[in-house]
This record gives sequence, C-alpha cells and structure tokens, in this order.
Amino acid sequence: MTLPRTADVVIVGGGVMGASTAYHLALKGCRDVLLLEREFFFGTQATGKCAGGIRYQFGTEINVRLSLLSLPMLARFEQELDQPIDLNTCGYLFLLTDEEVVAAFRHNVEMQRRLGVQTEWLAPSQIADMVPPIDLEGVLAASFHAGDGLADPNSVVQGYVSGARRLGATLLTDVAVTGIHVEGGRVEGVLTNQGEVTTPVVVNAAGPWAGAVGEMAGVDIPIVPVRRQIVVTAPLPQVPPDFPFIIDFAQSLYFHREGPGILTGMSNPDEPVGFDQSVDKDWELVHLEAAMERLPLLEQAELASRWAGLYEVSPDAHPILGRIPQVEGLYCIGGFSGHGFMHGPICGLLLAEEILDGQAHTLDITSLCLERFQEGKEIVEYAVV
Ligand SMILES: Cc1cc2nc3c(=O)[nH]c(=O)nc-3n(C[C@H](O)[C@H](O)[C@H](O)COP(=O)(O)OP(=O)(O)OC[C@H]3O[C@@H](n4cnc5c(N)ncnc54)[C@H](O)[C@@H]3O)c2cc1C
Repeated sequence: MTLPRTADVVIVGGGVMGASTAYHLALKGCRDVLLLEREFFFGTQATGKCAGGIRYQFGTEINVRLSLLSLPMLARFEQELDQPIDLNTCGYLFLLTDEEVVAAFRHNVEMQRRLGVQTEWLAPSQIADMVPPIDLEGVLAASFHAGDGLADPNSVVQGYVSGARRLGATLLTDVAVTGIHVEGGRVEGVLTNQGEVTTPVVVNAAGPWAGAVGEMAGVDIPIVPVRRQIVVTAPLPQVPPDFPFIIDFAQSLYFHREGPGILTGMSNPDEPVGFDQSVDKDWELVHLEAAMERLPLLEQAELASRWAGLYEVSPDAHPILGRIPQVEGLYCIGGFSGHGFMHGPICGLLLAEEILDGQAHTLDITSLCLERFQEGKEIVEYAVV
C-alpha cells in the first residue's frame, strides 16, 4: 500500500500502545488514522518480547485504577475484536523476603482492597500448599490475587491492528518516521523513509525509542531503553497446571507457565541504559542460578529459547500519557517501565479521548502528564519488577 500524503492523526510505532490507540481513535469515529511501524511486522519490539503478565497488584493508586479498567478490556477482547488472546487468570503470587518490603506490601494490599481489588495475604504454610515446587527459603509472606494472570501480547496487537483496519484506519509496516515537522509550535507533519505526510496530530508510541521520537519534535521525553531478558524451558510436566505467575520480589525474579514449560526472567539492577538487545550470557548464569534455587525442578529442564528486549523506563516508572505542552498536536503514550502490555488497552482509549474530546474522561490522567517531572510531582511506586 502506498503511503497516504495526509492523515488526521499519525501514530509512530506499532506495538500495543500504537495499535490500541489506532483502534480506539477509529472506534470513536476518527477513521483517518495512519499508524507507521518501521519493522516488517507489528508488535515485534517491547510488546513482542514481553512476559505477558497482567495484574491488579500495584503499589500506586493510578496503576491499580489503570488495571481496574484495562484487565476487563482484555477479558472481553475476544468478544469485541474476534481475536482469542490466551487469557489465563492463574493469579500473581509475590514472594516477600524482607521485613521492610512486607510492611510496604501490607500497605499496598490495604490500598488495593480499598479500590476493590481483593488481594489475599498468605503466610508461609499457605504458600507452601499453593506452590509445592517452590523452595520457600527466607520467604516471610506473600500477596496473591486470583484475577491476575497472563495474556498473549502478539494476539492483542493483531486484534487491535485488524480491528482498526476494519474501521477504516491505515496501519503500515516497514515505514520509519525520520522527522517531525513543527512550525510555529504546532505539528505540521511527519517525514518518513517513503516521503512526507501532512498531519496536525502526531502520537509518539515508539516505546523504548520514545526519547528519539520526542527529539524529532525538539522535545525532551525522558524515556530510556533498559535491556531485560527471558529464558523459556522445554516441557516440564511436573509443573502443576494452576501454577501462578510468581515473583520473588527482592530478586526481581519471576516464573510462569509458558505452554508446557516455564518462562523465567530476572532484572539486572546494574543494566546500563542502551539499545543492546543481545542476550547477556553472564547475567543469564546469575539469573538461572537464582531461578534454580527458588524452583529446583528447573535443574532438570532443557532451555528451549531465550531473548532480550527493552523496557521503556521513565524517571518514576510510570507512563507519560497525554498531550505534550511544548508542541501543539504532539501526544505521548510511553514509559510504562516494564508493565505496559497490560495497560495498553485502557491507555489507548484514554489517549483517544484526550485527542478527540480534549481530555481523557474515563480516568483522570493528569498525574501522568509530562510536566510532573518539572513540577516535582513524580509518582512513587514500590512494586516495580
Ligand atoms: C522482557 C520484558 C518483559 C516484560 N514483561 C511484561 C509483562 O509481563 N507485563 C506487562 O504488562 N508488560 C511487560 N513488559 C513491558 C511491555 O512489553 C511494554 O511496556 C509495552 O509492550 C510497551 O509497548 P509500546 O507499544 O510502548 O512499545 P513497543 O512494543 O516497543 O512498540 C514501539 C514500536 O515503535 C516502533 N518505532 C520506534 N521508532 C519508530 C520510528 N521512528 N518509526 C516507526 N516506528 C518506530 C518500534 O519498532 C516498535 O515496534 C515487558 C517488557 C520486556 C522487555
């Protein structure tokens, strides 16, 4: 398909954020939407590399509120978009090994319950009953929410891409945005490797590359890429079918069932900012050693696959969502810092409202504005993995 020369809205990036935004704009009646993705396929970057976890358990009200809106959208996704997404409400179990962290999580659980999320608090004997294969050495307590779980990121992106196209939007791969034309403080268009598109509205949905896309418009968007990696094992029949998504919080170490095997990841706290997506073999050894201590049956496992991807990290680990005040017509949906997949559905809708109705109204997103970093209003989140 040839590149249109004009559009009401141009979206830069075809991961979950761009695809959800395109669909929700079109659903609200804005059909002249053009999404440009520079890779050959949609959703191959952060979204395609992600662990697929979806949860209500967070340490800030805004994240819990985003989950309260977003996870039900995933629950009705197949019905709405005619696309199965392998939804599995296996629950998320946070293992806590430190008194200070236990106190913080108790506080988080109270806040979650106040907002209507019935997270359970488990003592070690209850955890042992729930996940017999886990070695509970040092575990003091755990929080568990049965409505948390997993969904397939690629299916979610495909569902939104197909849904947006059915509504008349244009979504293209293999088109790189190389510049943003700003005139008199307003967006006028984008430059691409296939020519220019005139538009009054540009959405920066470039994930780990959001900073670079911001620079194209002369704006500092403080989102940086940080490598995170994953290992998936060959089938492990000993893992029970109801095995939850388990996070050893102090170690940033996690496991969940991936088909007949186990998917595991662990965040390297010393990982430098950068775009390197090669697997760090030294860190993989540290990760697997810690993983085998927690889940000893991994010692019998063969590795089936491994990959590295990029988190899109903001200074306070919360998204930058909404209009960018320095340039009229410029919007950002990025910086989800490791948990964006699950909030993609609602954030696409909220940004569509912000663009078309002047302000998001399904949820107040003023706390997620870019200006918070200049105004000293960063959000403090405790439970980031
Ligand atoms: C290892 C790992 C595990 C994760 N686990 C989870 C999890 O369990 N649960 C969860 O909710 N989240 C998780 N995340 C985070 C989640 O993947 C991200 O928050 C989310 O996918 C971000 O989506 P996005 O659309 O902003 O970014 P992306 O999916 O990266 O999409 C941005 C797109 O923009 C394109 N692009 C960039 N620049 C340009 C340009 N100039 N022109 C055209 N296109 C451009 C890129 O090619 C890319 O496809 C994980 C991330 C990683 C890396």
